Amino acid sequence: MNTPERTPGTAPGDLEFIRSFVNSVDLESGVDDLVPLDAAASWFRQRSWAASLDQAALDELVVVREVLRDVVSTRGTADQVEAEARLDAIASRYPVLVKVSSGRVPLTPSTRSGVGAIVERILCSVAAAVIDGEWERMKTCANDRCRWLFYDHSRNRSRSWCNMETCGAQAKMRTYRQRQAARRSH
Ligand SMILES: [Zn+2]
Repeated sequence: MNTPERTPGTAPGDLEFIRSFVNSVDLESGVDDLVPLDAAASWFRQRSWAASLDQAALDELVVVREVLRDVVSTRGTADQVEAEARLDAIASRYPVLVKVSSGRVPLTPSTRSGVGAIVERILCSVAAAVIDGEWERMKTCANDRCRWLFYDHSRNRSRSWCNMETCGAQAKMRTYRQRQAARRSH
């Protein structure tokens, strides 16, 4: 999706695929790049992920997309364990292999095609990012209606919004109005 105001926050390496995959739906507008099926197929093709998808495979990927968003957005909250358990349940159906020579984190998908290849590569990337500490920089926008996934490049990892001018400004305005209302009611 072409939403240039949100493009800062692109992630390094394979995390960028995860970031763009989770952001393939714009929750605020409801526009979903993975609907219908042929749009999803071309979305993956454009990113050099040759996948022959049927509707069941796509449905599975959409579940994975939202579980990933939940795992990131619940970090540090009471809902984190439940979200991670849902990702674990998916991971138990998509085994990955240890391949010592293949890179810094030697995990590799066990299948080469279809939905398995995509989900397994995502799982390998998440595992690699958790191990090297990069995963902590993957965040969702603190605006509940937005929940856009971004990579926090800030030195102290303090970024909360996909974009300061849009979601950040809205949040500031809400806080301001709430303070004004609280003041009036006193
Ligand atoms: Zn946002």
